[in-house]
Formats: sequence, C-alpha cells, structure tokens
Amino acid sequence: QLIPRGIRSPEVLAVMRKVPRHLFIEQNFHGDAYGDHPLPIGADQTISQPYMVALMTELLDVRTDQRVLEIGTGSGYQTAILAELAREVYTVERITSLANSAQSRFEQLHYTNIQVRIGDGTVGWKEYAPYHRILVTAGAPSVPEPLIEQLADGGKLVIPVGSRMSQMLHVLTKQQGQLHTTTSCPCVFVRLIGQDGWEH
Ligand code: SAM
Repeated sequence: QLIPRGIRSPEVLAVMRKVPRHLFIEQNFHGDAYGDHPLPIGADQTISQPYMVALMTELLDVRTDQRVLEIGTGSGYQTAILAELAREVYTVERITSLANSAQSRFEQLHYTNIQVRIGDGTVGWKEYAPYHRILVTAGAPSVPEPLIEQLADGGKLVIPVGSRMSQMLHVLTKQQGQLHTTTSCPCVFVRLIGQDGWEH
C-alpha cells in the first residue's frame, strides 16, 4: 500500500517492513494493525495510518548520525521508526499513560536510543537542543516558536498546521538562520494541545 501511494525511499520502506506495528496496538485491534487507516490507542488519541507515518518519515529525511525530536509519542510506533533511522530520538508526550506504555514497548523491543519525556512538547526539549530533525505528530494552529529555535541550522521540521478539523503537512528547513517552508498534502491529526498549540 505504500509503494503504490508514492513512498520511494528504500530506507523508509525497509523500516516500515521491519518495525512490528501490531505490538504498538491493543490486542483487540491486532487484526487491523496493518490496514490503511488510523486506529485508537486510548485516551482519545490515535496511531496514524501507515502511509502517513511513512510519508512524514520520508519528508523528514533522517540520517544515521542525527538527533531527532518528536512531539506526540502516542503509541511509540513512529518513534520506533525514527529510532531505526537516527542516532538518537527524544520524544515528548503530554498524556502520562501513553508515554508509559510507549516506554515499556521500547524496553521490550530493546531500543536504547530513545528518551521519553512527559509534558508539553510545544515548548520542545531544550536540554538536548539543537535537533537536526523535528517531527510533530499532532495538528498545530501554527508552528511553535520554541521548536523553530531548537532546530539546528541545516535542520528540517515536519508538522501538520491548520484548523482543528484539517491541516496541511508543512516542511520547514532552516538555512543560515532563514526558514523556508513548503507544503506536502492535506491531513487530519488530533490536536496539539499546549502553550504554543491549541487550548485544552
Ligand atoms: N505518532 C504517534 C504514534 O505512532 O502512535 C501518534 C501520535 S497521535 C496522532 C498525537 C499525539 O500527540 C497524542 O498522543 C497526543 O496526546 C500528543 N500530544 C498532543 N499535544 C501534545 C503536546 N503539546 N505535547 C506532547 N504530546 C502532545
């Protein structure tokens, strides 16, 4: 389903084949784990459809020597995909139960390059900045300023931006302090809630 929809990167296709998506989903949805749609993960949140995970990963263009910040850990599936491609991944989730379940999955699957933080990711994670790549997996009203500040020069930020109901996938690159923005496609994400996001 990924190749006919235009995913081309051999690295992305390889990790999408490798990471066991069903292990990030509750048992009663296992039969549906690889379907072309999002699924509930509890706490009114969703795991994105495989195509959206692959597309955002391809747009992010992660290299093996890079440090990545992800906002919106959710089930941890996208985090694991990033951890297969990057040197280290820092991921922030505002809902404690989701962050804890994701952390247990990372331990079970022996990921040693993922750090999880519980909190508001719209303010980023200053301690480990700057990041070569930043991925936001929830829909924002605008690009949070702290994330722009914490993006390394030459870095890339992928984020859905728009209204509460629908967004456009934005790709920002920072070069010599200047930001360049392109858009990829329309999308629908749960809301990014926080200081530089939507109000709760
Ligand atoms: N990428 C995830 C996966 O693979 O399962 C799915 C992410 S889900 C679409 C969006 C997540 O963003 C939710 O778990 C939600 O709680 C989280 N979120 C929303 N606002 C946030 C914020 N300000 N900081 C951190 N996480 C946030």
